[in-house]
Amino acid sequence: MAEEKFSVIIIGAGPAGSTAAYLLALEGLDVLLIERGESPGCKNMYGGRMYSYALNRIIPGFWEEAPIERRVVTERVSFVTPERTATLNFQDAHWNKEPYHSFILLRAEFDAWLAGKAEEEGAILACGIRVDDVIKEGDRVIGVRAGDDEIFADVVIVADGGNSLITERAGLREKPQPAQVATGVKQIIELSQDLINQRFQIASDEGVANLFVGACTREVPGGGFLYTNKNSISLGLVVNMAAVQQMKYKIGELLEDFKSHPHIAPYIEGGQVMEYSAHLVPEAGYNMMPRLFDAGILVAGDAAGFVINLGYLVRGMDLAIASGEAAAKTILEARAKEDYSRQGLSIYQDHLKNNVVLRDLEMYRQAPHFLENSRLYQTYPHLVTSMLGEMFTVEGTKPEHIMGRALKQVKNAGVGITNLAKDAWKGGRSL
Ligand SMILES: Cc1cc2nc3c(=O)[nH]c(=O)nc-3n(C[C@H](O)[C@H](O)[C@H](O)COP(=O)(O)OP(=O)(O)OC[C@H]3O[C@@H](n4cnc5c(N)ncnc54)[C@H](O)[C@@H]3O)c2cc1C
Repeated sequence: MAEEKFSVIIIGAGPAGSTAAYLLALEGLDVLLIERGESPGCKNMYGGRMYSYALNRIIPGFWEEAPIERRVVTERVSFVTPERTATLNFQDAHWNKEPYHSFILLRAEFDAWLAGKAEEEGAILACGIRVDDVIKEGDRVIGVRAGDDEIFADVVIVADGGNSLITERAGLREKPQPAQVATGVKQIIELSQDLINQRFQIASDEGVANLFVGACTREVPGGGFLYTNKNSISLGLVVNMAAVQQMKYKIGELLEDFKSHPHIAPYIEGGQVMEYSAHLVPEAGYNMMPRLFDAGILVAGDAAGFVINLGYLVRGMDLAIASGEAAAKTILEARAKEDYSRQGLSIYQDHLKNNVVLRDLEMYRQAPHFLENSRLYQTYPHLVTSMLGEMFTVEGTKPEHIMGRALKQVKNAGVGITNLAKDAWKGGRSL
């Protein structure tokens, strides 16, 4: 591939890169989409669900053709202690209708499908090639280097995911601090469709998304997740990297503990582990963004830190797709003016603001700091489950009104009303 020149080179065929490739190829540009995996998605892992609005804007009704596991009809958030689980279970009849709210997907199939859409429009997908660096002429990026090959383009989109070495090598960001990233581990546990439907009380195309906080991470900052696929369950944990470095045990041990929790074990009983994977999650959101553009280069998706984790929901796929869309629009405008300078590409920021990415990241910029509060993982799961335990246990002892029970539990938890009120205030304003 020596001495070739494209209009656009995109590094990484995840949702950010493939969306940009699809939209640019649709407009007739020469697009090279480079993926280090043997096929798109083969190395990619995530929890399990994609909010649909961003892709529906680009490929209306995409669920008709995309490889979907199930559409989410039930949302659950659970506080867990070793013996107890308090779960908020939420359903909305609107999510059963188009445009569906969110879908559970497996990445190997979904990423391959989306990259395939870009190929259908004429993008060249080159798999099994790892880009090592960008090539610069002065301050301007003019191409990429992969092994001995040098490939040139008017502009390069970096969409190589959360552990983006290319953004670091291009001088757009420093290596993230451990507190700014998390480690995710996940198992895909095979079970029959009938068993999943029975155990979760759902129909074959319906899915459950469940997030967990508390004992699932042995109370260190992080959380658990469970998503129902068609014939398997995705179960995993995300733990802050700074906490992982201080733990005396391995994150895999936490996952084994989580699997044997009395709330989880019955769901996965009899299941076979089909896949184990681990991945990095950029967690600091707005506070860890690199320079998003420079002469000849744009950064999209996780490489730009575009992930929102609020504890009760995780968004990365929708932001990756929306940022791929913003990158494509930016390049089309820059091309019309034949201006790929830093100034010419600066409209990227406006597109990111207008299409949810920067708007939402900015709105939740305090969330990562709030989620560092250890009481969320150590104190409140016990408080909530003890309170409910008292309310629902009848054993002939003298009962008490809810207020009396609540004050007693707050006192037992040693949190203090002032801290409780402060946390509620801060949580309400940051999440
Ligand atoms: C444990 C965990 C749970 C998550 N749960 C959810 C969830 O439920 N919902 C949600 O919306 N988001 C979730 N996310 C976040 C979501 O996975 C990401 O936001 C999303 O995958 C970002 O897409 P991307 O295209 O930017 O990057 P990626 O999906 O990481 O894709 C990057 C691509 O670049 C390729 N690549 C990397 N380096 C190179 C290189 N040098 N040369 C060539 N190719 C390269 C990779 O192989 C990969 O295909 C989760 C993440 C994790 C880790």
